[in-house]
Amino acid sequence: MRVFEKGYIDENYVRIPKDELFSFVVKVLMKLGVPKEDSEIVADNLIMADLRGIESHGVQRLERYVDGILSGGINLRPKVRIVREGSSYALLDGDEGFGQVVGYRAMRLAIEKAKESGVGVVVVRNSNHYGIAGYYALMAAEVGMIGISMTNSRPLVAPTGGIERFLGTNPIALAAPTKDKPFLLDMATSVVPIGKLEVYRRKGKPIPEGWAIDSEGNITTDVEKVFNGGALLPLGGFGELFGGHKGYGLSVMVDILAGILSGGTWSRHVKNTSEKHSEVDHFFMAINIEAFVPLEEFKEKMSRMIKELKSSKRRVDRIWIHGEKGFLTMETRLKAGIPVYRKVLEELNQIAESVGVEKLRAGESCERA
Ligand code: NDP
Repeated sequence: MRVFEKGYIDENYVRIPKDELFSFVVKVLMKLGVPKEDSEIVADNLIMADLRGIESHGVQRLERYVDGILSGGINLRPKVRIVREGSSYALLDGDEGFGQVVGYRAMRLAIEKAKESGVGVVVVRNSNHYGIAGYYALMAAEVGMIGISMTNSRPLVAPTGGIERFLGTNPIALAAPTKDKPFLLDMATSVVPIGKLEVYRRKGKPIPEGWAIDSEGNITTDVEKVFNGGALLPLGGFGELFGGHKGYGLSVMVDILAGILSGGTWSRHVKNTSEKHSEVDHFFMAINIEAFVPLEEFKEKMSRMIKELKSSKRRVDRIWIHGEKGFLTMETRLKAGIPVYRKVLEELNQIAESVGVEKLRAGESCERA
């Protein structure tokens, strides 16, 4: 059987069954005082990232969330409050809760409003890092709606021509149902998210040219130079030649919709999860397709468009659709287990020891990619 997995894995990774990893994360969070239901939402978001091949936003993030809890940066029992609301919109205050918990509730509210009013827009201020943007967009696609999700994040990206970290990697996700798996565009508005650099740093490898600049604004492949005063580049890369200014614009767009519209702030003032008042803001939108066209017609046209796209003239084996690699990776990993980098496994087991939960057992080593 031919299997597909997104990303690079080699013998330094071990496989751990999805359910084991999920219940490990839940147990750690519950030990630290997070309510069960909320722990499951956070775990679901992290495990979905790993299942979809987004290692940068999977269980390797747990350490940072644990720091956030221990330092008081994350409020474990937030009173998420509706500040203003109408039939098709709401503004929420996340009370510094887990971004995943606040985000889940906000998207559910957007979906409820879209059922009644055709469209539901929910903006959130005063939250925390919410993981992968696609998680929330998919919630809407699963109930036959178009879902859009965005968040601002701490400053890591220089604007076109700038050398200072000003913008966040501010991701945008849009999911739409088809007759098969949903279309899912889920992307950072920088060339890569910082998590990808962390993966390279952990492995001691140089980063590809064009991802980031050093503190003087020169393109660098030295990951340490990026962490020591450098910056990531906006989507489109260095300068204007390949559209760097457009990625820069998309990032500002996220700050406008998630940050300024919610009465929150913009990336430059967003802080780490471990800091108090990290001031992360989100934007969610659900569009009830049935309010515009019959859902079946929409799905049918989506599937036809995708089929036409995939069968258009190409120079490679296959034209991919957004979300497709993630769904295939998910299928593979649900059967084979999730690859976890050995160093990450060690970190997870150190957390286990410090909070007093059973350690994860290393599964079989993965084969060289
Ligand atoms: P990728 O570059 O890996 O993928 C971006 C999109 O392109 C995905 O929808 C992906 O689908 C799709 N894709 C990949 N290859 C192709 C192809 N050949 N043809 C068509 N579509 C393709 O994502 P990023 O590295 O930019 O972002 C990774 C994650 O990081 C996202 O989930 C994002 O939400 C998250 N993030 C979160 C932040 C936060 O602060 N919370 C900040 C920044 C990023 P598929 O998934 O199927 O590969």
